Amino acid sequence: MVVIPKSHPKDISLYFHIPFCRKKCGYCHFYVLPDKEELKDLLDEGFSLEWESKKHLLKGFHLKSIYFGGGTPYLFGPERVKKILQRIETVFGNLDSIEITIEANPESIDSETLKQFRSAGVNRLSLGIQSLSTSELVTLTRDHPKNEALNAPLLAYEAGYTNISIDLMYDVPGQSLKSFDYSLSEALKLPITHISLYNLTFEPGTAFFKKQKELKKSLPSDESSHEMVLLAIKRFEEASFHQYEVSAFAKNNLYSIHNTGYWTARPFLGFGPSAFSYYQGSRFRNIAHLNKYIEKLRAGDDPKDFEENLEPESKTRELLLIGLRLNQGVCIEHLKLFGCHVSPSLLSEIETLTNNGFLTSRGTHLKLTQKGRLFFDTVGEHLV
Ligand code: SF4
Repeated sequence: MVVIPKSHPKDISLYFHIPFCRKKCGYCHFYVLPDKEELKDLLDEGFSLEWESKKHLLKGFHLKSIYFGGGTPYLFGPERVKKILQRIETVFGNLDSIEITIEANPESIDSETLKQFRSAGVNRLSLGIQSLSTSELVTLTRDHPKNEALNAPLLAYEAGYTNISIDLMYDVPGQSLKSFDYSLSEALKLPITHISLYNLTFEPGTAFFKKQKELKKSLPSDESSHEMVLLAIKRFEEASFHQYEVSAFAKNNLYSIHNTGYWTARPFLGFGPSAFSYYQGSRFRNIAHLNKYIEKLRAGDDPKDFEENLEPESKTRELLLIGLRLNQGVCIEHLKLFGCHVSPSLLSEIETLTNNGFLTSRGTHLKLTQKGRLFFDTVGEHLV
């Protein structure tokens, strides 16, 4: 079993949003920009200005992880990433023991650049593989063929990465239990340590959302979808990838230190356009527009365009639901360290979910049952 340590209110993670992609995937709802050098130079300047304006917030915190997400942050290049890491070192000292992840796509990586990222300090790679079926990759409008998806983890391993995560998707139009099983078995032959398993969703503003009527005709049924999840859990377990969160599986205890922060209420600061932060009980987001983000920073203004401070009741419900994503569950007593308060109405919801077989409890410790994991949305509807 994978055991995730509890977060301390003085732990912190850092997130850098790098929005460049060579092409926008049909289902993507992230803030994404074309892969252009002049835009990367702008963002480079933005990171420098934002770091100077926020680094005082890090005083007294223990750094747990650094994550470069996107977009395709790999396209930002090792030199620019190295500059960011050097700035972080001026506050936290040597980063050798810190998990530093970068996201990459199979079509954009090469051996030399991978090595340069590695010597810059990056020690974990997250690859957007999604599927190992040619027809599903075409349906998903991904930019890589199957052979590049298969080759990417091998290239990374040879370049010195021993902690490699891949993303896989289910609920893809045209996907069958057989084609999904094929992707699973091919993936499990690769030198990887972590798998994130996601279902395809149709988010407003995406190309897929516009043609969802057509695409939904060939979606797997709800029953097949549940079978896929159960099959994945079985195949992964057989290959020593233990589920530690609703959608995450790790081998050799190499769970994502960064992502577990989101599920254990660890504070984090986000940098770059559209990046979220969670700091001292407040959640805020930078403006999702590169030029406006830069203009604000150049003028000495805060680039955030959204902020909320949740009431103790809402915060408790949200942190409880997020914590329940972990297989080990969540301790209500521990949440009090983060300013949470369990009201009688929340206790009554917990009792209903427990009586209906979605949760189990021992003292103040709550966990999802397998039914709760499969029907996590139902649990969410009750709790928030
Ligand atoms: S590669 Fe990822 S971030 Fe880029 S468009 Fe596709 S899904 Fe979005």
